[in-house]
Amino acid sequence: MTSDCIFCKIAAHEVKAGIVYEDEDLVAFHDIHPKYLVHLLIIPKQHVASSSELGPEHDAVAGKLLRIGAALAEKQGIAASGFRLVANTGPNAGQAVDHLHIHLFGGSPLRPL
Ligand code: AMP
Ligand code: ZN
Repeated sequence: MTSDCIFCKIAAHEVKAGIVYEDEDLVAFHDIHPKYLVHLLIIPKQHVASSSELGPEHDAVAGKLLRIGAALAEKQGIAASGFRLVANTGPNAGQAVDHLHIHLFGGSPLRPL
């Protein structure tokens, strides 16, 4: 747990969030400012600042983030209509929270990249 990290606090249940999934490695919750009908965030419980900070020791949890992201799309009923999994990394990508997170967007047509 890194002090002052809002996502570490959500993972530790010290800050409330609309958690939809949790296991020993990950937490998924509703984004507080949803950009699409479905907008979830999937995070590792362990603090990793961004995708740039991933090392070989994170291979299992990084793969699990993607797998659970897709499973949550299925659970939210948007797997067939399509969805996007996004990890903003660094200033040009607009990363606002320095704790690795995957956005799950869907529920309506997504703006082209
Ligand atoms: P990013 O720009 O990729 O760093 O996205 C950070 C996301 O975290 C934004 O979409 C925010 O709306 C979201 N966010 C920030 N604080 C919270 C919070 N306490 N609970 C849920 N979502 C949050
Ligand atoms: Zn953190």
